[in-house]
Amino acid sequence: MSSLDICQLYVAACGMIDDASPSAAALFGAPPGTLQGQLLLDRVDAPSREQLRGLWRRWSQAPVKPAGSCEHTLTALRSDGSRLPCLGTFRLAGDGEAGRFVLRLQPLAERPLLGGAQLPESLHDPLTGLPNRRGARELIEAALQMGVRAAESVSVVCIDLDNFRSINEGYGHDVAEEVLRCVGARLRQRALGLGRVCRTAGDEFLVIRRGSTSEEEMRRLLPQLMRWIQEPIEVGDETLIVTASVGVATHDCAAGSFDALMQRAGYAMSRAKRLGRNTWYFASRDPIPCLQHQALKTRLYRALEQGRLALHYQPIVDLRTGEVRAFEALMRWHDEQLGEVSPARFIPVAEESGLMGALGAWSLEQACRQSASWLARHGTTRPIAVNVSAVQLQRGEFEEDLLRILRECSVQPGMLELEVTESALIHDSAHLAALSLRLRELGVGVAIDDFGTGYSNLLYLKHFHPAKIKIDRSFVHTMASTAEDRAIVRAVIDLAHAIGARVVAEGVESGEVVRMLGELGCDEAQGYHYARPCAAQGLSAWLERESSSAALPPMP
Ligand code: C2E
Ligand code: CA
Ligand code: CA
Repeated sequence: MSSLDICQLYVAACGMIDDASPSAAALFGAPPGTLQGQLLLDRVDAPSREQLRGLWRRWSQAPVKPAGSCEHTLTALRSDGSRLPCLGTFRLAGDGEAGRFVLRLQPLAERPLLGGAQLPESLHDPLTGLPNRRGARELIEAALQMGVRAAESVSVVCIDLDNFRSINEGYGHDVAEEVLRCVGARLRQRALGLGRVCRTAGDEFLVIRRGSTSEEEMRRLLPQLMRWIQEPIEVGDETLIVTASVGVATHDCAAGSFDALMQRAGYAMSRAKRLGRNTWYFASRDPIPCLQHQALKTRLYRALEQGRLALHYQPIVDLRTGEVRAFEALMRWHDEQLGEVSPARFIPVAEESGLMGALGAWSLEQACRQSASWLARHGTTRPIAVNVSAVQLQRGEFEEDLLRILRECSVQPGMLELEVTESALIHDSAHLAALSLRLRELGVGVAIDDFGTGYSNLLYLKHFHPAKIKIDRSFVHTMASTAEDRAIVRAVIDLAHAIGARVVAEGVESGEVVRMLGELGCDEAQGYHYARPCAAQGLSAWLERESSSAALPPMP
């Protein structure tokens, strides 16, 4: 055997060890030269024997002899009775002797440590021999501590195998374990240059990298890592290919902690999953959206409790007469720290966190109070259109709340309109159709908002009998320049009229669009061309004018 320091065996087609390097003999705990003549199958444990038999079968049946190598984990039976898990790399011997192969062995237990400290056995995962989650914590904390002095950073690469559950369910536990062992061994052996490899959970591995690593450098290293994982894994008679989703997070040692790094790397990994798997994602240094979500929820809750939300109103103008037909109420939230938060950002948070019911009831009540107050002050008012979220409509209390609010504020039902988006209608259309009918009988108009952006299912129109359809501003905005958008706007106007509904064009920003909408027979328009949404006080001038006036007063 030529390269004596390499731990390898030559094995004949019959399974007999022909030759073994001294380090291979040492690995088996056998005196040099004593492995020769023994059967390899006798020197490995039962699961490894199965592996080897499968490999032999495949190789002997293969029409063309495989040129490359393949890897299996094997457990060597040592002369003193102990067992040593190893990564075995097999290839056919190049000397032309049929079926003779070379097996290179690398013990999985040897592990040079980050920072030199040895991890106790209890911090290792028995399956792969890699540090477990607790081990990873020790390593990361040690790396962070050491890096503080050196003003370094630590990167964590979180590797989660894709669809691992289907391997578990489809091939069984043993095969799944072998896949994990093999991926662990590959990473451990090859990703050494990248960092220290751990297995932190079922199918989740981690590479801990010390020192400042640029994103550039990671972009160079990660494709290689992903290719290693993707190499076929042979287990018994099966050949499996696994891919992984990878998330990377980097922290300056002074600012980092194990939890922060893991949270960011885990978040980046789940982004990679959402991007379609088998890809990677770098966690930015921005706050994690789910943390933002939680913080936003808490602040929103307080804002609602402490009366720091407001409604602004945007006029909706009759295109034939130029008078203000109604106002749309739009929620506004000014947070001390975050500044102006858009409803497009906080409404979804309210919807997901159970706050929408309270928030929606608040805006209904606020709008009704405003209507009553205008009537008292100016002797006139306009219908107010309030946006209603799908989550609100699904709550049993919605109708009850609405009736109570109308009653308490002494507002005529005809002075209230509800704007419901198309997507809200998908959820429980039978319930909502019945509700819409009752509202109509009561005199509360229902408008379908953002029409054209959802499924635009014509059945909704049939079932909901909306009083209004609001054409989404994405069509209106571009109708002056795009013939297709003009055609869509025209079609929606004709459709709405055919079912007896009025049409409102949203997002009208120019006189040219107003003219076009007029020609197409659109009934109402709303947008910056007329006015931006503003606080209630700013609208008094509009309300005081007699409705006969076609000209709009300038905005305050
Ligand atoms: P929306 O119902 O489609 O409301 C119209 C949005 O378009 C408003 O944005 C308004 O400020 C904006 N807008 C009006 N005219 C123009 C224009 O000419 N050009 C452009 N580019 N934009 C215009 P805002 O106030 O940011 O509200 C965003 C969305 O948040 C609303 O879209 C609505 O879906 C939701 N929202 C607002 N207030 C409430 C509320 O009280 N309850 C519920 N459930 N949703 C609300
Ligand atoms: Ca709306
Ligand atoms: Ca809209």
